Amino acid sequence: MVSQGITVLGSTGSIGENTLNVLARHPDRYHVVALSAHSNATRLAEQCKQFQALYAVISDTARAVELQAALDQLQCKTEVLAGREALSAVVKMDQTEVVMAAIVGAAGLEPSLQAVRSGKRLLLANKESMVIAGELFRRAAAENATTIIPVDSEHNALFQVLPRNFETGLESVGVERLILTASGGPFLHKERRSLRDITPDEACNHPNWDMGRKISVDSATLMNKGLEVIEARWLFNARPDQIEVIVHPQSIVHSMVAYRDGSVLAQLGMPDMRTPIAHALAWPERIEAGVKRLNLAEIHKLEFYPPDLESFPGLGLAFKVLEAGGNAPVIFNAANEIAVEAFLQQRIGFLEIPSVVSAALDVCEAGKIEELDEVLEFDRLARTATNRIIHSQKGI
Ligand code: NAD
Ligand code: MG
Repeated sequence: MVSQGITVLGSTGSIGENTLNVLARHPDRYHVVALSAHSNATRLAEQCKQFQALYAVISDTARAVELQAALDQLQCKTEVLAGREALSAVVKMDQTEVVMAAIVGAAGLEPSLQAVRSGKRLLLANKESMVIAGELFRRAAAENATTIIPVDSEHNALFQVLPRNFETGLESVGVERLILTASGGPFLHKERRSLRDITPDEACNHPNWDMGRKISVDSATLMNKGLEVIEARWLFNARPDQIEVIVHPQSIVHSMVAYRDGSVLAQLGMPDMRTPIAHALAWPERIEAGVKRLNLAEIHKLEFYPPDLESFPGLGLAFKVLEAGGNAPVIFNAANEIAVEAFLQQRIGFLEIPSVVSAALDVCEAGKIEELDEVLEFDRLARTATNRIIHSQKGI
């Protein structure tokens, strides 16, 4: 078997660690070209030692000395590169054949897009980049004849149950609807007024998944599902009216595709990200992922409910953003990133997250997006506007 060279962007995060966990099970299939972290130099050095990475990228340049010292102490020969540009540089290298995009937020956009533009296979966990630059990804994938394989569990499930030729158009392959499941997060069935005093730790305490803090807050507000609706629109070339969300607290059914003849195909599994990661790594083959096997007789019941758009307005907002098109998804995502950070730092309350995002959508000017520079500029403007809103508490 020919070993594939893989670069893991964001290797110290939750998806990054899970990816390395799967890679460690298949040393004959994959070798690590580069690993990256924003600031956790100690953990990055340990990973480089274990996987004999050729390059270690630390995006916060101030930490480069610390990373070199940590590698020296481990007698590890991995070469240190620093700064944001280094992320795109390792992606472009000939040795990199596959890129796992597991950076959180819009910071992951440039290297993820670079991967597709360089003709590399992209395993995409970083949903924010697809939300803000979906059209650019679609164009780049078509021009370079590359495949983007979704790692987000819902989209990976859809990818698994859609026919191979879904790119020709959902209608032409008999698909009526994509049904995204949502766990409902830690505050499922809670009334709006009881959510006012939620703390960051409560919001990050997800019942089914162990994830980074940003996506955990997104799951609690249902903003995560909103981002995923937009992600699905681009990944599967779906119209907004072809995407539906259903709450499924057990997180066993990861998503479903409804076909014209009344058939509904679903992908099921334990809530463990190593399944979609292993699927994306090996596709179209299947490899061991170290995941507990699903035993439905033990689980007993699978429940489904309509989403509560009153307590969790973020989801409804996402559908409006999709209809608006243009730069609206960029504003939606940037405002959410800023609002989540403010919530985690206890500068705003839990219920203020969607109202800050809504206010940002109101104040930012609408615009069209054709190039990467425009995405980055709208992203910058939306962040400034959102910080101003939070500062003045305007529109809340
Ligand atoms: P995390 O916070 O655990 O890890 C983020 C990683 O990105 C870390 O390695 C960190 O060093 C790096 N990073 C952070 N800021 C950066 C910056 N400015 N520049 C460069 N690198 C930076 O996040 P996570 O939970 O692993 O999520 C990663 C992505 O995957 C997110 O987009 C998330 O929405 C998506 N995702 C995660 C899960 C999950 O189960 N955790 C599931 C589906 C999708
Ligand atoms: Mg998901």
